[in-house]
Amino acid sequence: MILVTGGTGYIGSHVCALLLAAGREVAIVDNLSNSGADVVDRLETVTGRRPLFHRGDVRDAGFLTEVAAKLRPECALHFAGLKAVAESVRQPLAYYDVNVGGTATLLKVLQQNGTRRFVFSSSATVYAPSEVMPLTEESPLGPYNPYGWTKFMAEQILRDLAAAAPDWRVAVLRYFNPVGAHESGLLGEKPLGTPNNLMPRLCDAAAGRTPRFSVFGLDYPTRDGSGVRDYLHVTDLALGHIRAMEHLETAAGAHVYNLGTGTGLSVLEMAAAFRAATGVEAPYEVCPRRPGDLAEYYSSPAKAERELGWKAEKTPADMCRDAWAFHRRCLAD
Ligand code: NAD
Ligand code: UDP
Repeated sequence: MILVTGGTGYIGSHVCALLLAAGREVAIVDNLSNSGADVVDRLETVTGRRPLFHRGDVRDAGFLTEVAAKLRPECALHFAGLKAVAESVRQPLAYYDVNVGGTATLLKVLQQNGTRRFVFSSSATVYAPSEVMPLTEESPLGPYNPYGWTKFMAEQILRDLAAAAPDWRVAVLRYFNPVGAHESGLLGEKPLGTPNNLMPRLCDAAAGRTPRFSVFGLDYPTRDGSGVRDYLHVTDLALGHIRAMEHLETAAGAHVYNLGTGTGLSVLEMAAAFRAATGVEAPYEVCPRRPGDLAEYYSSPAKAERELGWKAEKTPADMCRDAWAFHRRCLAD
């Protein structure tokens, strides 16, 4: 049995789809604060198999104990958390509570119930701002917002746990910029409020839900002046979790991996890729830089390729096509 916290969310649902398709037993724990229970039905439609679903909060030790004592999961994949950088600046306590407190509570419960394999959703925001690219797992750490600090602290808890208790096997996965959606069009990123990220905003503009999207800054020292990020398809990212989980069958200790493509794409390049892949123009306007944004960062995914045999395969065209297909389906629902 694999326990997936946050399994009805964007990334967790794609990992559940792969696990179910591979015949694994899956139990989702999610409080549905940023997703819907309909995802459980969608997983069944996509894979022909239904995961167990337990609605509850990862900060609730009593609830988690009930689930873990009954299911005795062999491995936990921990996606549940809050993820909006700007919100974390406004509400730091909520972010520390869920992302750090929730992770510590979950680990305590797993420790008491015999689970010793753990895959954690971390983020490229743990790295210090740097002009030296690509970022490797050895690049200096130094988050620059509360969200990044919550991931940094959760990583530290995991390193300390693996050092203190050698039977724990931990994979910390630092995601770059996940985009796109499941090829079925049934799973994707469905933000409940106004989206902050580039791809959903680009889709909103393409669909005419907003008149245009903002390009936040055309005066960065990048090849076309717009910000550069390492976008990767969520299905590639999901596959990285399966490889990491498998790796922990034999690898002891705590291991950190970047999951990215290794290639940076600018905002304008993404807009052009979107137009080419979908045939739809997303109008934009150039706006001032967004406070707190860095000009450019992208990963070196070499360690994940070397040790996990994982490499992102999907192209920006795949990312745009699949994001757009999901977006249109959501609008139709
Ligand atoms: P998401 O919001 O779609 O999924 C998170 C899920 O966790 C949601 O279904 C939500 O309802 C659930 N959740 C939130 N708080 C909870 C709580 N206290 N108890 C139980 N469930 C709770 O987000 P996502 O994009 O799928 O991200 C998954 C993980 O990956 C998060 O930890 C996030 O910080 C991390 N991450 C995401 C990105 C990204 O760009 N999407 C990048 C780097 C890291
Ligand atoms: N961006 C933009 N317009 C938007 C949203 C984002 O120009 O409406 C830019 C942003 O400045 C950054 C890139 O797109 O250069 C990716 O931003 P996103 O919020 O998706 O991810 P981040 O890397 O900031 O976590």
